[in-house]
Amino acid sequence: MTQSNGENQQKTRSGLKQIRAGIQSRSIKARQKVENMTKDDVKGFFTRNAFVILTVAAVIIGIAALDSRASGKMGIRAVVYYTTTTIIAVFIGIVMVLIIHPGKGSKDEFSKQQQIEQVSAADAFLDLIRNMFPPNLVEACTKQFKTQYAKRVVHVTMTINDTLVAPNSSQQIEEMIPVPGSVNGINALGLVVFSICFGLIIGNMREQGQPLRDFFDCLNEAIMRLVAIIMWYAPIGILFLIAGKIVEMDDISAMGGQLGMYTVTVICGLLIHAIFVLPTLYFVITRKNPFVFIGGLLQALITALGTSSSSATLPITFKCLEENNKVDKRVTRFVLPVGATINMDGTALYEALAAIFIAQVNDYQLNFGQILTISITATAASIGAAGIPQAGLVTMVIVLTSVGLPTDDITLIIAVDWFLDRLRTTTNVLGDSIGAGIVEHLSRHELQNTDPEVGNSVVEE
Ligand code: ASP
Repeated sequence: MTQSNGENQQKTRSGLKQIRAGIQSRSIKARQKVENMTKDDVKGFFTRNAFVILTVAAVIIGIAALDSRASGKMGIRAVVYYTTTTIIAVFIGIVMVLIIHPGKGSKDEFSKQQQIEQVSAADAFLDLIRNMFPPNLVEACTKQFKTQYAKRVVHVTMTINDTLVAPNSSQQIEEMIPVPGSVNGINALGLVVFSICFGLIIGNMREQGQPLRDFFDCLNEAIMRLVAIIMWYAPIGILFLIAGKIVEMDDISAMGGQLGMYTVTVICGLLIHAIFVLPTLYFVITRKNPFVFIGGLLQALITALGTSSSSATLPITFKCLEENNKVDKRVTRFVLPVGATINMDGTALYEALAAIFIAQVNDYQLNFGQILTISITATAASIGAAGIPQAGLVTMVIVLTSVGLPTDDITLIIAVDWFLDRLRTTTNVLGDSIGAGIVEHLSRHELQNTDPEVGNSVVEE
């Protein structure tokens, strides 16, 4: 009897333990849900909704307000600027990593589990083209957007000297679903291409297209006002985003050794590009003080630093350029949404540099042809990367595969990527903004000859 009482008590205790564990796990799940909701849903609500309306309205209005000749010339200038600066950025990345040689030492410092599967450059490129022409526009704005390429990215965890330094990376990588040209699951590139075509048509419709122009203009104005309200709270959000990340860092010692040198090399490369190359280019072309221009962008740059997303920063970039730097709206609306999707100098620099760092860590001697391949694929990978946090980390698979480097070695740099991502995003936003300033300067004659309201040439040649 006493024995069975004891057994019963034990059973009750273990039952209670199970219930408690159940409640605990449920409450953890509930807390996670709330955290995810605040972190992802709220952020997603603004980035997705504001992004769709802003991009569509801004691009349509920007293009419709130009005549087709002006928009063609402006487009060519923007593409030339994007290509030139991206190539310069890749060059700086390669020179820095070859000079500093951060991967010197032994690979034993690192050990890792699990891999990222292979993504070929052809796959990613074809996805990019496919995404330019979405079969269903509504689906492109609403449906969680996935392709084969995205699904091929799998779990990653990383340890350095047996310490787990990136326990959640598998989750982060899976969540990103970095389809080329997509933003938060939205097919941004498809939307931009559609809006350009639509804007061109409305522009050519002259008086008949006026109601549509008015509609999109009004929509754009309304979303900008909403953004202005949100901007008042941005400093608080950004402060907590960065503080939260610092608190989350498990192992500061991971920053030592090769990884520390790698971090310093990336920072130096980005600084040279952002503080020297881009301002010099701006000065040479426009003959205006680049640092006054950069001063006007401060709020956008801080937002990029805080959010690690050039797409999420886009509304603020618009405001800074149009209100502080007085860049013509017809230029910003045309150039910025495209730039935020395909022009990523910081990402290109980082992709080339990181790939060569991985080669150095593996004692892999790269010849000139392979370095050239890295520069070309790094440029392509930066175009394919979405303007969302850590997208560049995933498109780097393309760069590594192109020269036969082990793609699972991306795990070596995950621990510091949250930080470097912020810096390269800031460089990306700066590159887009200076691009808008330069394109405006080069297009001043066409802009003068175009009626900003109607979009028709006021001076016939
Ligand atoms: N986070 C970057 C951006 O939004 C992309 C990247 O991961 O390099 O611009």
